[in-house]
Amino acid sequence: MNNSLGAHIAFYRKKKGLSEEELGSLLSVSPDLVRDWEKDARIPSPECQNKLAQLFNVPSSFFHPEESKEKTAITETTQNRGKFIGTCARCGKSIYSFDAYGMGKVSTIVKHHKTRTIYEYEPDKQLGYDYFCADCCREILSLKTVHAEHHVEKMEKRLRKATTTSIIAALITWIVALGFAVFAFFWFDRTFWSYLVAGCSFLLAYLVFSYLYTLLLKSDWISDAFYAVMKAGFKTLPSKVQAEDALGVLKTGFVKAIFLAVSYIVTTALLIVMSVTLCFISAFTWTTARKHYLDRLSSQEAKAQEDKGEENGKDR
Ligand SMILES: [Zn+2]
Repeated sequence: MNNSLGAHIAFYRKKKGLSEEELGSLLSVSPDLVRDWEKDARIPSPECQNKLAQLFNVPSSFFHPEESKEKTAITETTQNRGKFIGTCARCGKSIYSFDAYGMGKVSTIVKHHKTRTIYEYEPDKQLGYDYFCADCCREILSLKTVHAEHHVEKMEKRLRKATTTSIIAALITWIVALGFAVFAFFWFDRTFWSYLVAGCSFLLAYLVFSYLYTLLLKSDWISDAFYAVMKAGFKTLPSKVQAEDALGVLKTGFVKAIFLAVSYIVTTALLIVMSVTLCFISAFTWTTARKHYLDRLSSQEAKAQEDKGEENGKDR
């Protein structure tokens, strides 16, 4: 790679996904000037150098080619690597301004009397003044990605468990409804109405159950597709260290997973409430129908007895 200042400006501009025009408007300069910088035809003013350093998240010393030229004259090894910036906070390797490196924070936490050092690499936020070499940035990021993937897997397992529980709950509710129907059917005398009411109720219960079951399967399918996309996102993380991407994917995934979990709970609750309501309605209908039937039967009996009594009266 061309190690000129212009090449570096172009590299960081593209990394940020900015066009020459966009970078120009961010710095309040013309796009032609940006092109001149990138061609090394002109050098950015000190003010622009500071703005560029802030925008690209690199130390402002990055844009002092004169100083680095002085330093590079001293030793051969640093000739094409720019000015010495510092040492990697993780491995201690020397970092020069034209090297690929990142900035971040080193912190220690004490847990169960054990001290653990945590390295945080932030590509767009300047957390502190610790520098990490490119290798360490990659390693820090890969650890973060592994952690994120582990988290997604855990979430996926929980969602699958929730789906299974929902389906089992639905099945139990359905069996209970069936029990109600069978009980009511045999308890009630087998007239035309008993067949009609029991059959219709059972059909309705079956339809509601199968519809909700399909809903559950559908949302499972959606979550499968969603996790496939998420995993693809992790796999395509570029070689350039972009911890922000991993975090973004994780955050979106977390929100969607919570949404899915809530929708599972709501669907299950709805399923149970609807099935139980259906059972009550069925039982109530059957009871009422039976009462009506028995009333009619007793009134018929009474009428028959009355008729008999009248006949007996005639006989006398
Ligand atoms: Zn390192």
